[in-house]
Amino acid sequence: MPGAVYRYANRDGEWIMESLSDAIEAITGYPPATFLPGGERPFDSIIHPEDRDAVIAAVFDAMTRGEPYAVEYRIVHADGSVRWLNGYGAGVSGEDGTLRFADGVIFDATERKETEARLTHLALHDALTDLPNRALFQEHLNLAIAHARRTGVGGAVLFVDLDDFKMINDGFGHAVGDELLVQVSSRLRESCRADDVVARQGGDEFLILLGGSAESAGSGEAVADAAQKVAANLRTALGLPFHIGDTELYVTASIGASLYPSDADTAELVLKHADVALYSAKDAGRDGYRLYAEPKHDTTRDLAIAARLRNAEKRDELVLVYQPMVDLKTSCIVGAEALIRWKTPEGDLLSPAEFLPVAERTGLIRPITAWVVEQACIQARRWCDLDLDLYASINVPPAYWQPASMRRVLATISDFGLPADRLMIEITEQSAMTQSEELEPLVAEFRGRGLRLAIDDFGTGHSSLSRLRQLRPNTLKIDRSYIRDLPNDKEAAVLVEIMITLANRLGMQCLAEGIETEEQLRFLVEHGCHLGQGFLYSRPLPVSRFTALITGAEEQAA
Ligand code: C2E
Ligand code: MG
Ligand code: MG
Repeated sequence: MPGAVYRYANRDGEWIMESLSDAIEAITGYPPATFLPGGERPFDSIIHPEDRDAVIAAVFDAMTRGEPYAVEYRIVHADGSVRWLNGYGAGVSGEDGTLRFADGVIFDATERKETEARLTHLALHDALTDLPNRALFQEHLNLAIAHARRTGVGGAVLFVDLDDFKMINDGFGHAVGDELLVQVSSRLRESCRADDVVARQGGDEFLILLGGSAESAGSGEAVADAAQKVAANLRTALGLPFHIGDTELYVTASIGASLYPSDADTAELVLKHADVALYSAKDAGRDGYRLYAEPKHDTTRDLAIAARLRNAEKRDELVLVYQPMVDLKTSCIVGAEALIRWKTPEGDLLSPAEFLPVAERTGLIRPITAWVVEQACIQARRWCDLDLDLYASINVPPAYWQPASMRRVLATISDFGLPADRLMIEITEQSAMTQSEELEPLVAEFRGRGLRLAIDDFGTGHSSLSRLRQLRPNTLKIDRSYIRDLPNDKEAAVLVEIMITLANRLGMQCLAEGIETEEQLRFLVEHGCHLGQGFLYSRPLPVSRFTALITGAEEQAA
């Protein structure tokens, strides 16, 4: 479309359109005469009201400075539509220096603007779902954080990841996978407010920005509540079946959330925290929600606790309590797990969760474990001397599952003349999977001497079956989190069944941790689990009470 050429003339301070080419009709829908003297209306009148003052000011400003102008603005076309124009021109001054004319040309920029808008949209949106992409999300987040810093009105980011999407993609094909993502994105969109930003991060991952609206904002707590509510809504919405062609699909999602500016005040960090929270939701068994929690690594506090902990052992403040490990069929006690406690001089009894993490971060875990090994060996030796047929089981942290330390364990057993099968070592799945090769011969030696090995908290880490076969632990201890949900939680029930079968098939004993109810016990026995531990039988007991319990039990049995 050609440009329309015009000339405005300055008549004693009033600017009049003096000439205008015919091309203006194709651009505005009005013939040139409309805007010329004696016509219906001045050209200004069709400039979009939102742009009018700014365009006129920009033109005069440039001309007064003696510079050419270039403006972009909207007009209202004769047919009522809004069109974009580009105007270029310059003022012409007379000899006295006053502005006499303004000459210029007008082009229709509508198509170019639309192309530009389309390209911008494409660059900032996901092609499959048409949701904003990560780049646009990050821009929104930057703005939201800047706003939060100014006003103190914070918000939250939710990171949503579909569980097992890969299985659907592999099993039903990519077309079904794509359609599912499209449907998921509209459910996410519908479960949020209009001013929340729902974006696709990529793959089966979505990001949601809950902006600082008045009621969700304010205190971090209120924002956390709002985030939790939205996450619950999202999970409910995703919980309904999806229909793709003839296929009915079910998905679950794991969701992590982080708050700004309370948790972090850069977009990068907020996203990272949401990611960490998402992973902890995944780790906790998927299909769940987690809010990012600052890891409590207060170094000064750590050091203060470590300083007191260092002396605790010397001052006999550390104690082991023992929890019976029971044969579920006969109810006989077969072993005892040694669990550490710290009796502080202030009279508090601290649980391992309260001080072992500090011990791990400060290296104190090694001397503490050496102490546990020695105490447990002494105790097991006493039980041996009392003719009690049971083993002591100790927790060996990853830092101690090392050749040098484990050689010390073998030495300690010998020092106390303890038959090796009276001791069990509990290691985590993590240790089992990542142990160094140098441990292999030692593990073989353990086996040769009859020392027992258990995998603790089984089901919470990542085991490989081949690793399990190599290591051949005597016992798998199914983590309490699975037992807790028995027998009503179908998924937990299936998983426990699988773990029991796995243990039995590989010739290992299976021990269920944290049995609290008769129903749990019944389920376990019915499904072939041999051993267990839990409050249903006994809480961890001071050694004197434990021994009394077992000798009492023996007397009763006798
Ligand atoms: P764990 O090895 O899985 O120990 C079992 C934990 O579950 C114990 O908590 C025990 O008191 C608790 N428990 C047992 N039965 C039940 C039940 O029926 N219901 C519930 N709610 N809980 C039950 P505790 O003693 O607080 O120990 C926590 C963790 O700390 C242990 O988990 C173990 O990983 C670690 N730990 C304990 N003692 C030591 C130790 O001497 N050295 C090392 N490295 N870690 C230890
Ligand atoms: Mg344990
Ligand atoms: Mg455990």
